[in-house]
Amino acid sequence: MNSIVTFPNRIPVTDFEERRFKVYTDRQLDKIEAIQTLPEDTLFEMKVVASVLPFRVNEYVINELINWDKVPDDPIYQLVFPQRGMLKDEHFERMARLHREGADKQTIQAAAREIREALNPHPAGQMAMNIPELDGEKLNGLQHKYRETVLFFPAQGQTCHSYCTFCFRWAQFVGDKELKMASTEAEKLHRYLREHTEVTDLLVTGGDPMVMKTHNLVQYLEPLLAPEYDHIQTIRIGTKALTFWPYRFVTDNDADELIELLTRLVDAGKHVAIMAHYNHWQEMSTDIAEEAIRRIRATGAEIRAQGPLIRHVNDHPEAWARLWKKQVQLGIIPYYMFVERDTGAKNYFEVPLARAYEIYREAMKQVSGLGRTARGPSMSAGPGKVEVQGITEIHGEKVFVLRFLQGRNPDWVQRPFFAKYSETATWLHELEPAFGEDKFFFEDEYEQMRKGNG
Ligand code: SF4
Repeated sequence: MNSIVTFPNRIPVTDFEERRFKVYTDRQLDKIEAIQTLPEDTLFEMKVVASVLPFRVNEYVINELINWDKVPDDPIYQLVFPQRGMLKDEHFERMARLHREGADKQTIQAAAREIREALNPHPAGQMAMNIPELDGEKLNGLQHKYRETVLFFPAQGQTCHSYCTFCFRWAQFVGDKELKMASTEAEKLHRYLREHTEVTDLLVTGGDPMVMKTHNLVQYLEPLLAPEYDHIQTIRIGTKALTFWPYRFVTDNDADELIELLTRLVDAGKHVAIMAHYNHWQEMSTDIAEEAIRRIRATGAEIRAQGPLIRHVNDHPEAWARLWKKQVQLGIIPYYMFVERDTGAKNYFEVPLARAYEIYREAMKQVSGLGRTARGPSMSAGPGKVEVQGITEIHGEKVFVLRFLQGRNPDWVQRPFFAKYSETATWLHELEPAFGEDKFFFEDEYEQMRKGNG
C-alpha cells in the first residue's frame, strides 16, 4: 500500500478487471455476433465497403459503446461500421460485382487499390509538402508544416484500437506501403529536434501512438528531458484510446508505466497534452472511460478534445453541446471542432460549411464559458487551418468571415478574409473570394510554396 502515498495513480484499480483486447477486421465480419441479426443485404454491403476502406473494431466498442437498439442510427455504429453510402455508386457496384462473382483475393485487392487512388488518399499535400530533411535526406516519419510544431509518426503507432470510418489517415491502414508515413528512428527524431530550436511543440501521432507499448514511448520521449531539448516545451500525444481502449491507461499490463512516464515528463517541467479525439458524448459513457481520464489528469497532464463534425454521427447542435458539457465536467478542455477532410468517404460524411457554422454556434449558445474554448469549424487545408468565424453581410454581399488559425506562413495567422457565401461548399477550395476579388490573399504565395516542394 506504500505506493498510494508515493504515487496516487497506483491506487489499486480494484473495480476494473483487466480486459483482453479482441479485435475484428474485414476478414472476421462473420465472427461479430452483434451484427449477425442485421439484414443480409446490410452484411453484404459492409463486406463490399470494408474491402476498400479500412475496417477494424474491438469488442469493447461493440459491446459497451454501441447502443444496438438504435442501429443503424447509433452514432458509434456509424463511426466504426462500414455503410453502403461510403462508396460512390460506381465504386460500390464494381466491388459488389467482384464479390458476387467470387473473384479471387488479388483481383479484389487490385480493384480496391484503383478505387482508393480516386479517393484523394493524401489530402492537404501531406506526402509532398511537409516532410523535413536531415543532411539532405527526407525524414519520412516526420512532418514540419508549421514553424513551431513537429509531427512525429512512430512506426509502432500506425494503427488504432478501432478505425473510424471517416478517418482522413485511412490510406495508412490499408496496407499500401507507399501510402504510409512512419519512422522507427528515434535517433533522427532527436537530432532533428536538437537542430531546430524554433520548434516548441512535438506532436506524437499516428494512427494512434497509444497502441504502442510504453517502453517504445519511453524511448522516444524520455530523452527530451535532457537540457538540449529545453526548447521543446510541449509534448502532445494524439489518441483515440480514451474512446476505443481506455484500459490502456488503467489495467493493461504497462498502464502504470505509461502513467509514470506522463508524470515524469510533467514533473520535469514539460507541458504534456493528451490530444483526445472525441466525436460523441457516448464515448465517455463508461466507468472505464472516466477512470482513464481521471488517471491521466492526476499526472498533471491535460486532456484537450478535438474531432470532426460528421454527418450521421454528430451533425446537430445538441450532440456537440452535450459533448462539450460532459468534457468540461470531466476536466477535459474542448479544443477543436474540425470540418471533415476532403478524402475517403467524404461524400457520406460531409456537412456544408454554412451548416457546420450554424451547428457550432447553436451548440456554443448552450454551454458555459468553460465549454466555449472549442475553436471551429476549422478546415485543416493545404495553406493552413482555416476557421469559419461567421456569416455576415457587408455592403449587401453575404459572406463567410474566415481566418487562419495556423498558416504555412506564420504571418497569415489571425488575418481575417472573406469568401462569397455558399449553401453547399464543404471545403476551402470550393470557396470563392468575396467582393469581386479574383484570389484570396495567400494564394500566390501558397502556389510558390507548392512549386518549391514540387
Ligand atoms: S483513431 Fe484517429 S487515426 Fe485512428 S482511425 Fe480514428 S481518426 Fe483515424
